Amino acid sequence: MHSAASALPAVGDGRHGSGQTVVLALDIGGTKLAAGIVDPSGHVHSFLVAPTLGEQGPERVLERLWELGREAREASGVPWADVAAIGVACGGPLDPCRGVLLAPPHLPGWRDVPVTALAEEAYGRPAVLENDATAAAAGEHRYGAGAGTRNMVYLTISTGVGGGVVVDGRLYRGATGNGGELGHVTVDRHGRPCRGCGRRGCLEAYVSGTSIAERAREEGLARTDAADVAAAARDGDARARAVWDETVDALACGLTSIVNLFEPELVVLGGGVSRAGEQLLAPVRERVRADAMKPAGEAAEIVQSVLGERVGVVGAAAIAAERGVLSHG
Ligand SMILES: [Zn+2]
Repeated sequence: MHSAASALPAVGDGRHGSGQTVVLALDIGGTKLAAGIVDPSGHVHSFLVAPTLGEQGPERVLERLWELGREAREASGVPWADVAAIGVACGGPLDPCRGVLLAPPHLPGWRDVPVTALAEEAYGRPAVLENDATAAAAGEHRYGAGAGTRNMVYLTISTGVGGGVVVDGRLYRGATGNGGELGHVTVDRHGRPCRGCGRRGCLEAYVSGTSIAERAREEGLARTDAADVAAAARDGDARARAVWDETVDALACGLTSIVNLFEPELVVLGGGVSRAGEQLLAPVRERVRADAMKPAGEAAEIVQSVLGERVGVVGAAAIAAERGVLSHG
């Protein structure tokens, strides 16, 4: 399989590769590490996960991550010689130019960790670091639900809410590479406190899995996560329904602002909460279409991510392709 992959042109530079065309893609999540070998068509040749255990500190966790990467390479059957670059996705804030993790809230105590320098040292390959939601947007745009679109918004609804934006075919990064924080669009300026940024009434404070579970508990439901609440709402439980309806309402409100702002052709929803599928998407789609300015609301399709749990590694590979590190192979 890898021989077919290495015969494909290197993504990003338009030239044919010299054999080095696949990316070792790594994802540093708050609870899980992931590693995979991804080829230029976005195909994932191997995919391994391990617990992050962030409290062990960056040195030990990264050592385990590099090892997971070596195991993923071995599991893929792709020879080392074909690995052109290392792509790393992680929650921000981070400096994608220098490849340094600044102080990500999901990894307490990790400060100014020079991830790309350490990855380059570990593997002897060029490496890139990107915000995980931005990388996921790149992955969906290059290889997933957003392939072929010029203007696309990606929203990942999970423990927190992250976002990424493609404008005129290019990934939007902002002044320091931390733009596109769509989870912190305000949906109620006097609303619930937002753990992610310290303000009030952010989209994240209502639609994240954390918030859904928290509001369910406030309603007296002994449900533990967003999937339980979604199921109970489907079964007609009035309190679960109230929580779910408020979630739909907040998501539709935030997405309407986002659609008005960017007029995307496509909105892709990923992350655990989006696995509720049409129970979430159908009412949100209807509301955004009705509430957004015309014709933006009609232009925007709202669909579910197609990359699922692999979006982190596919995104990290898309970033390596986008930044052209494959062309140095
Ligand atoms: Zn916030």
